[in-house]
Amino acid sequence: MNVIEPDKKIELLGCTVDEIRRIVIDLGEKPYRARQLYDAIYRRRITDLDSMTDLPKPFRHTLAERAVVTSTRIENLFFSSDGTRRFLLRLGDGREVEAVFMPEERRDTICISSQVGCPLACDFCMTGVIGLKRNMTACEIVSQVVIVLNQVYGAGAQPPHGTNIVMMGMGEPLLNYDNVMKAIRLSADEAGLAISPRRVTLSTAGIVPRIYDLASEEIRPRLAISLTAPTDELRDRLFPINRKYPLVELIEACRAYPLDERERLTFEYVMLDRVNDGDRHARELVNLLAGLKAKVNLIPHNPAPELPYLSSPMERILAFQGVLVVAGVPAFIRRPRGQDISAACGQLAARHKATA
Ligand code: SAH
Repeated sequence: MNVIEPDKKIELLGCTVDEIRRIVIDLGEKPYRARQLYDAIYRRRITDLDSMTDLPKPFRHTLAERAVVTSTRIENLFFSSDGTRRFLLRLGDGREVEAVFMPEERRDTICISSQVGCPLACDFCMTGVIGLKRNMTACEIVSQVVIVLNQVYGAGAQPPHGTNIVMMGMGEPLLNYDNVMKAIRLSADEAGLAISPRRVTLSTAGIVPRIYDLASEEIRPRLAISLTAPTDELRDRLFPINRKYPLVELIEACRAYPLDERERLTFEYVMLDRVNDGDRHARELVNLLAGLKAKVNLIPHNPAPELPYLSSPMERILAFQGVLVVAGVPAFIRRPRGQDISAACGQLAARHKATA
C-alpha cells in the first residue's frame, strides 16, 4: 500500500482492488464503492477524483482529502519527427523521470522507467551518468502508462490497436523488483488496463537471482537481456554488474527462464564502433547463445557528449547481422526512435531541452 505518512496523500493508481477496498471502508463508505473506484482509475483512466461522477459527491470530497489518483504530472513533452513523443514527468517529490511513446502502424510501444536514475553505471548509457536517486513506487510506474495513453488518445479512450510496454526506460527494473511486479500485475488485470503480460517486455542488465525469481512468477513478462558483449573480458568493462554476475551465470539463468512455445528471449546488443562489433564478436555471440531460444536486437549506439562511444557504421552492423543470421540466430536491427529529441535508448537523462 502507498500509505506512508499521515500527512501524505495516498496514491490510488498503484493500489490493488483490495487495498482500495480498505481505504474505502476506512473512510466509512460501502465496500462496493471500491470496485467503482477501481474501474474509474484503471479501466476508464480517470485521473481526477472530481470527474468520477458515479461516486457520491460527499465521498469524493472525503476521498480527496486523503488521496489522489496519482501525483505524477507531465512537466514537458517533446515531439520527434518520427512520431515518437518523449514525456518528461515530474513525480510527487519533484524528481523527474521519462517515458517514451513510439507509434507504429499496427501497435504502439510505451517505454517506461522503473527507477529515478540507475545505480548500474553501464559505460555507454546516459542514465548511468546520473546515478540512482531512488526506486519508483508501483503507482509511479503504472502512472506512466495511464498518463501516456491519456495524452495520446484522450482520457479513457480505447487505443486503436495493441499497446506494448517495454521496461527499458530509466533504471534497472530487477533492482526494484516488488514495485515493478506489482505494476505488471496491475496493468495485466482484465478489469483494468488489460495489458497482457505477453505485451510487456522487461529488460535487464543481468541481475541473476532476480531472473530466477521472475521465472517463478505466475504473471511473467517477456524477458530481454542487455548483453552487448559476448565475453566477460569485454562485458566487465561495459557493465560493472558483470563482475558480480558473470556470463556463465547469466546464460544459465536465461536457460531456466520458461518460455511459451513461440516465445524467444531477446538479447539486446548495442553496436559500439570498434569495441564489440567485429565478426569475431559475432561468432562469439553465436557460441554464447548456442542452444537458447533467442533472438538478437542490434541497437545502433545513441551517442551523447558524456559518453565515450560512437555507433558502428551501418555496413558493419549489417555484416555483424549477417554472421548471426547465417549461423541460425535471428537478428534484427533496431531502428533508433526519437533521436532528435533525446528519447532513444540510453539517452534518457531527464533533459529539459529537446536535445543535448
Ligand atoms: N537497465 C535495463 C533497462 C534500461 S536500458 C537494461 O539494462 O536492460 C534499455 C536498453 O537501452 C538496453 O538494452 C541498453 O543496452 C540500451 N542502451 C543503453 N544505452 C544505450 C545507448 N547509448 N545507445 C543505445 N542503446 C542503449
